[in-house]
Amino acid sequence: MKTGFIGLGAMGIGMARNITAAGHLAGVYNRTLSKAQQLTDELQVAAYHQIEELAADVNLVLICVSADADVLAVVEKLAETVRPGTIVVDMSTVSSDTAKQAAALLAEKQVDFLDAPVSGGVEGAKNGTLAMMVGGDFEVLEKALPVLESMTRCIMYMGCTGSGQATKAVNQIMGAGINQAVTEALAFAQAQGLPMEKVIEVISGGASGNWFLQHRGSTMTRGSFAPGFKLVLHHKDLKICQSMAKKTDTATPLVDMTVADYERLMASGYGDEDISALYRLKR
Ligand code: NAP
Repeated sequence: MKTGFIGLGAMGIGMARNITAAGHLAGVYNRTLSKAQQLTDELQVAAYHQIEELAADVNLVLICVSADADVLAVVEKLAETVRPGTIVVDMSTVSSDTAKQAAALLAEKQVDFLDAPVSGGVEGAKNGTLAMMVGGDFEVLEKALPVLESMTRCIMYMGCTGSGQATKAVNQIMGAGINQAVTEALAFAQAQGLPMEKVIEVISGGASGNWFLQHRGSTMTRGSFAPGFKLVLHHKDLKICQSMAKKTDTATPLVDMTVADYERLMASGYGDEDISALYRLKR
């Protein structure tokens, strides 16, 4: 399928490179045009200057932008020129309600929509090993599959529109718990005067080992918090989780604690750091 990509952030750049390597990418759009220019020079694909221009030229649109309002703003522009029969896949992390709104807007133009958020971090985006959770029509997913497979190690069809995003909310709650556990445990280890690299290596090989410890353990204990996954973005996700949980009367004490911690860090100017900056509050 002739594919256009919107959103060359920390995630989008790696994804776009992998789609190009698989031979699918026609061109890209990024709000800050200079970023798109650098990548199109490297990949030898088109640089679209407007979303409307991209929409008129391709039959598969992939989106990876920051938050709910951004996805809806992009979809509104797409809807102006998109051709009937096009498929739009949003890989940003947003609410299920936003996914449903985007799908309804595009359905008016006879365009199919999939909510397909991903997990695996910038490393997963770079290496093409993301896990993707998809909501929408299964037949539409089947058509987009060859392109989506070039970025992923695992694609799971979850059900109707919005169920991909609901699954991603589950992932984000676990991410909050893992961040709390790893930052607290490593701050404890440092206070005990233990050799930190050895702590990280031996625990990574046992039952408490996990992705976050392996990929962020060393950097956080050295006081380096470059993203990665920006704290403001995880805060945005956890606010979505809180509002979804409220509707079903589900208690989320871990999410509530993490939101409060992140808000302290954001107030101190650390919002654009990696989520492992939670370590600042623990050490
Ligand atoms: P990022 O580095 O901050 O990049 C955000 C991208 O979205 C940039 O290309 C930005 O353009 C674009 N953008 C934002 N608002 C826009 C708008 N209104 N119109 C057009 N473009 C807009 O973020 P990221 O880390 O790549 O994350 C992107 C999405 O993936 C988020 O929803 C995030 O929650 C999710 N995610 C992130 C990770 C991770 O580890 N980083 C993992 C899984 C999922 P500019 O260049 O002009 O700012």
